[in-house]
Amino acid sequence: MLHQRVHIRLGGRRWRLSANPEDRFDGFHDAGLLELAMGDQTAMEALRRLHHDHHPGATMAPIPDDEVIRQVGGLLQTGRICMIADGQFDSYVAPFEPRYSGSAWWHAHEGKYPNSTSIDDLSDLFRPRVRAFVDALEEAGAMVQVEATRRDKIRAFLMHYAWLVAHGGILPKKVPKRDGLSIIWDHGNLKASKKAAMEMVKLFEMAHIAALSSNHIAGNAIDMSITWSGTLEVKNAKGKVVKVKAPRNGGKNTTLHAVGASYKVYKLVKDPPDDPHWSHNGG
Ligand SMILES: [Zn+2]
Repeated sequence: MLHQRVHIRLGGRRWRLSANPEDRFDGFHDAGLLELAMGDQTAMEALRRLHHDHHPGATMAPIPDDEVIRQVGGLLQTGRICMIADGQFDSYVAPFEPRYSGSAWWHAHEGKYPNSTSIDDLSDLFRPRVRAFVDALEEAGAMVQVEATRRDKIRAFLMHYAWLVAHGGILPKKVPKRDGLSIIWDHGNLKASKKAAMEMVKLFEMAHIAALSSNHIAGNAIDMSITWSGTLEVKNAKGKVVKVKAPRNGGKNTTLHAVGASYKVYKLVKDPPDDPHWSHNGG
């Protein structure tokens, strides 16, 4: 989504609220303005709207004013939002896209780099193998639930470097440029840069660093849970029926792993186990 500049009128002057730290001219950015704004209905509405733009899931009306003050005030104190004296612009609202890393950037752009849960998005090499294997499983009455297929390579890049910047593994200005991606990691000081990167780490719900390349990124891996009841009688790639009993879990059953291998869909075997993960080469 596009973020918007918001104009408010306060104390006889017009102010433009922006989430771009570069937009710092002839103005101030401190929580003092918020105290002014508290007595002003229009200003409060503008702040509430800005808050809404930064948290697209939030609804406009039910946010209590003191919550808006708290949230916007927090952003002001980190220099992430500036309030700018602005006599030149009318009260139009111009489209504005966040360019600096952080939660505003994430909300505006992450949707462009989605991961897939569709078998259709697998590589030309791996897709037909998975289709044949899954078809055989479903024909035999197994329950197949696909959790992940192809991972977006730019998303992986963002996750990788957000983690590194946030944890001090790389200086923000050393993050390489990447085609198809516009983001500024360096906020001018290391503390702000790390904090912004950490916001993205949290929004990505990361528990450890993301790899820049993997079978998922190449479309050569699938995470799926496979379960069944009783004895599964499934055809292997040669058309021979194989009886598969307990454990009734595709991640653990080595007989089923052999059936998958006949379709060239190989189970990743490692310790600790990664139960749902199958790939074109077992990696
Ligand atoms: Zn996987």
